Amino acid sequence: MQQLNPGEHSKRLAAVRERLADWGVEGVMISSSSNRRWLSGFTGSAGWLLITADKALLVTDFRYWEQAARQAPDFELFRLKGKFEAAFPQLLTAGRVSQLGLEGRHVTLNQFELLKKLESVAWVTLESTVEAMRHVKTEAELAAIRAAAAITDMAMSQVNEIIRPGMSEGEVAWELEKIMREAGASGMAFPVIVGSGPNGALAHHRPGNRRLKVGEPIVIDMGAELDGYNSDLTRTFYLGNEPDEKFWQVYNLVLQAQTVALQTIHAGMEGKAADAIARDLIAAAGQAENFGHSLGHGVGLDVHEGPRLSHLLDDEGSPVPAGSVVTVEPGVYLPDWGGVRIEDLALVTDSGVELLSRCPKNPIIPVGTSG
Ligand code: ZN
Ligand code: ZN
Repeated sequence: MQQLNPGEHSKRLAAVRERLADWGVEGVMISSSSNRRWLSGFTGSAGWLLITADKALLVTDFRYWEQAARQAPDFELFRLKGKFEAAFPQLLTAGRVSQLGLEGRHVTLNQFELLKKLESVAWVTLESTVEAMRHVKTEAELAAIRAAAAITDMAMSQVNEIIRPGMSEGEVAWELEKIMREAGASGMAFPVIVGSGPNGALAHHRPGNRRLKVGEPIVIDMGAELDGYNSDLTRTFYLGNEPDEKFWQVYNLVLQAQTVALQTIHAGMEGKAADAIARDLIAAAGQAENFGHSLGHGVGLDVHEGPRLSHLLDDEGSPVPAGSVVTVEPGVYLPDWGGVRIEDLALVTDSGVELLSRCPKNPIIPVGTSG
């Protein structure tokens, strides 16, 4: 990954310290892996951050001591030996705080039971900590997302050559994963989704043994992960030379909803209003019931993060900031028939959006006369 600007992590640390008073705490414990990584630079799979006005501790076990010291120079390494709960009193002495915030969405009930036993500390459950600070991406973060998107585009644009009637969904998913891994992806953003025929009506279908048949829509949703950053892309295909009218009706409706949304969304727009651009169009065509998920979500260290473009948000209070990266992914799902979803990744700017997904939208996968 392109290096973050020097001082980026200490800037983020300072931003957390500025918010401690708003959160009503003297310090905060960060346990979410994405927040931990974003704040410290530490990429290990286990560890906690304890941040107070004058302390920044990274707590991790033997496996990661070397790595943590190297990756997170802004944090003092607290070497965890033995059980986490046993080290806790010592850790809190080092942090010298009595009122500590916890990430309510990430601490497990078991951990919380253990923490509660420490009577010297008043725990404050926080709904979120640095999630909103992560919405606007730095140049280095954007570079990683662009690279992940390019790998995903490259794989998706080969679907026409890979797919043939009789292949199973699982085989298609594996071929696509191989292409992305060979192109340098460090992993998948999530398991590749291949939903053929009626399976396409299940928005997050896991590919299985179902074999692809001529005359059916196929939804493929996937993303590469690179240096911790993700991409997310969906295309819907039709296996066969001449789709029927129903396919074109649904496909063109979804495509139109996505096109208009991409043309209209800009920085400062409320997430609910952005969602409504596509939703109103789909509703006007009588398909409101068949678009059951949100229009889009932010993408970064997590493949699903903020800002959200969603009908579930309030009318106000969730504007989409310039510099955030979001998906725009309307879909229409008809039980027993299948689904159409078209998803692109876009950088939000003051004047509109810059498309980060470049993969063409040609749904037809021709089959030979023998197929
Ligand atoms: Zn997706
Ligand atoms: Zn998505």
